[in-house]
Amino acid sequence: MIVYGVFASPSKCFDVDLLSQFKNMQQNPKHIDDLVSRFTGRVEIVPDFKPRSTIKHVVFDFDGTISLIREGWPDVMLPMFEELLPFLEGDSPESVRAMLFDDIMTLNGKQTIYQMIRFCERLKERGGIPEDPIYYKREYLRRLESRINDRLEGLRSGMELPDKFLLHGVLSLLNQLELCGLNLYLASGTDEQYVKREADLLGVSKYFGDHIYGALDDYKSFSKKKIIGRILKDNAVSGDSLLVFGDGYVEIENGKDVGGLAVAVASDEANNGSGNFDEWKRQRLLGVGADIVIADYRDASVLLEIIEGK
Ligand SMILES: [Mg+2]
Repeated sequence: MIVYGVFASPSKCFDVDLLSQFKNMQQNPKHIDDLVSRFTGRVEIVPDFKPRSTIKHVVFDFDGTISLIREGWPDVMLPMFEELLPFLEGDSPESVRAMLFDDIMTLNGKQTIYQMIRFCERLKERGGIPEDPIYYKREYLRRLESRINDRLEGLRSGMELPDKFLLHGVLSLLNQLELCGLNLYLASGTDEQYVKREADLLGVSKYFGDHIYGALDDYKSFSKKKIIGRILKDNAVSGDSLLVFGDGYVEIENGKDVGGLAVAVASDEANNGSGNFDEWKRQRLLGVGADIVIADYRDASVLLEIIEGK
């Protein structure tokens, strides 16, 4: 089992014993192309990438990073906004769609309410009188639930297997991280009750234990930034020990802001396992400082070796 052979000795995973090796690598880094050539799937590694052997805490986003149950959510949110936004002179359907899409995706990773708050600002700019943002969030969730209801029912009844809605290769990655004895956290901008429901349905709750966090009604009391800050504070560690996986702007930026290592998952959600990058995600996540971009987790072992500096 090559996969587990890499981590045959859990104490060697991201162990401080590897610090000297890490320092050598800093002085004499392998060429990025050599690292890239070890992957079978698509990967992008930034030129100044440095491995780090100090990882102890790993934060995952949920939707688009682990779960595909909510795949297609922008196809619910965007038409709803288009439907409700007043047109101004000079608007074209394409320009309005592009503006709204950019608003939506730039806030991807934050709680859903922030996308609604942004939409209310757009409404006001156009002379509209918006309802409370929570009104739009409820309507969006109503529409989204009807889209994903068949998927949830399929998983509950056993007619659908979790694999279909798990991003390609993610169980292998989670198993390897668990074997390394790393602390795993789930932090999602989706309401916490739904994150827990869907993590259970996909069989991944066990990897995270009590560390599953999602949006709360009091939206100011939760943020990914707060979760990351709490992890570092409670464990009295610096961002050196943090690894973040996400397909959203927010978690990548939050992870990088505290000095963590960020793996962007530019997942092609509609075609799980295609191995293609979602180009919008790839470009924007590199733009906020992602260290590595992958399309899925087919190369989980290689990815972890490279992060560790092996
Ligand atoms: Mg996401």
